[in-house]
Amino acid sequence: MADEQEITFDESAVAEPEIEADECSEQEPVKEPDESAAAEGDRVEAGCPIVGAGAPRCGRRLHNAPDGVDEFPVCLMHSKDRNKQSGPHFGEFWREFERILTDAAEGKAHFEYFVFPRFYFGTRIFKAICHFHFATFTQYSIFSEARFMQDADFSRATFMQGAIFSEARFMQGADFGNATFTQGADFGNATFTQGADFSEATFAQMARFSKTKFYGTAGWCVSNFLDRAEFRQTKFEPSIEGKPSAVFALAKFSKPGEIVFDDVDLSRALFHNCDVSQVSFTSSATWTKRDGNRGLAVFEERVLLEKKFAKVVQEYGPFDYRSVEQIYRQLKKNFDSRLDYWTANEFHLGEMEMKRLDVPTRGRFLWLRQTWHRKLSFVVLYRWASDYGNSYWKPLLLLLGIILFLFPALLPIPGIELKHQGTTQDSGTQIETETYLSVWNVQKTWGENLSAEASLVDNCAYNALDAATFQRSAKYPPAYPHKR
Ligand SMILES: [Zn+2]
Repeated sequence: MADEQEITFDESAVAEPEIEADECSEQEPVKEPDESAAAEGDRVEAGCPIVGAGAPRCGRRLHNAPDGVDEFPVCLMHSKDRNKQSGPHFGEFWREFERILTDAAEGKAHFEYFVFPRFYFGTRIFKAICHFHFATFTQYSIFSEARFMQDADFSRATFMQGAIFSEARFMQGADFGNATFTQGADFGNATFTQGADFSEATFAQMARFSKTKFYGTAGWCVSNFLDRAEFRQTKFEPSIEGKPSAVFALAKFSKPGEIVFDDVDLSRALFHNCDVSQVSFTSSATWTKRDGNRGLAVFEERVLLEKKFAKVVQEYGPFDYRSVEQIYRQLKKNFDSRLDYWTANEFHLGEMEMKRLDVPTRGRFLWLRQTWHRKLSFVVLYRWASDYGNSYWKPLLLLLGIILFLFPALLPIPGIELKHQGTTQDSGTQIETETYLSVWNVQKTWGENLSAEASLVDNCAYNALDAATFQRSAKYPPAYPHKR
C-alpha cells in the first residue's frame, strides 16, 4: 500500500493531464458545453459533456471546481479538482465508481477520461469489462494481485505516479496501448492470459516485466523506453501456434544498456526495425537453433522463409532479407562488444546466410545473376569452404586438396626442373625442365606416356608438399619461365 509520502500530489505532474485533455479533444469528440447547449436547445442542465469512445455521454451533474482547473465544466469524475483527493468529494467519487461497477455487473464499466484520486485495488476482482481509456491516475495506481475477469482497457491512460500491477491477472485482453507511465511501471509476476498490448506506450522510468507470464502475444511496437526495463525470467508462451510471443518492432530504447533480457525465451520474439545492438541479452536468453548447427536464428528469419507464418507477415511485416540481416548484424555487434565472440559468431552465420539469400531483384540478366548469386558468389564460396568461418575441418580439407591435387596438376604447365646426374663423369649435373608436353613421347605407347605423366604429377605433389612444409631445397623445384 502506498504510504502518505508516495501519494503526495506532484506539482510538476499536474501539467500532464491538461496536455492529455487537449489531445483527447482533438482525437475524440468531447462536447464543449456551448456546443452541447446548441445541439440540445436550451437544456443547459444537461450536465458533463464528456463522451468516451463507444461510451454514452457522461451527463453527470457539473462539479463546482475552482477556476482554471478544468478547461470547461465537467462532473466530479472527470474533474482535475485536487479537492477530490480527500474529504466529501473523495467519498463521493468512490461511491459513484462502485455504483458503475455494480451496475455494469459483467457488462461494460465506463471510466473513460476519469481522473482518479488515490486508491488501492490490491486483490480486487473486476468482473466487468473495464474501460479506463484516457483515464488519468493522479496517484500511485495499485492494482497488485488485482484480477480482471474480462478485457481491461487502459489505452491512452496516464499513470502520473507509479503503476503497480505486480501479480495482477488479466484473464482476457489487456490494452495499455499509448499509455503513459510517468514513473515506474511494475508488471512483475503478473499474468496475461491473452494478448497484452503496450504498443506506443511510454515508460518514462523503470519498466519491470520480470517473471511476468504472457500466454498471448505481448506487443511493445513503437513503445518508448526512456529508462531501464527488466525482462527477467519473463515467460513468453503464446498458446496459439505460429504467433509471435513478443513484438518489439520500432520500439525505442533511450538507455539500451539498461534494457535487460535475462533467462527469457526469445525464439518467437520480433525485433525488426528496433536497434538491439546495445540491449543487454544475458547468456541465459535463448534463441532458435539453426538447422545443421549453423548458428542461431531470429524469429524474423523463420517468418520470412516459412510459409506457415504468412499471417505474421501480414500483421507485422513486411520483412525482407536486408532487415533480417540488420538484426543479425546488430546482435553480432552486441555480443562482440561484450566479448562473447562465440555467440556473436552464431549470429554472424545468420547475417551471411541472409546476404546469400538476398538475390538481386532488378536489372539486366536477372535470371543469370540470381542463379550466380545463390550458387557461385563469394558468399557462397565462403559458406562452402568454411561455413562462414565456423568450420575448422572444411578449410583444412580444402587446403590439403589444393596441395595434393590442384598444385600437382597445375605445376607441370610451367614445368618443374629435374636434376639429372650426367652419364659421363665430365658432364656433371644437367637440369631439365619437365612439362606435360616434354614427357610425352610419340614413340611410346599411350600407357607408357600416361604413366610418365602420372609420375610427373607425382613429382609435382612432392614439390607442393615441400613448399607447404617450407623445405628449402626442393628435389623438384618449379621452373620459372620468367625467372622468379
Ligand atoms: Zn463527466
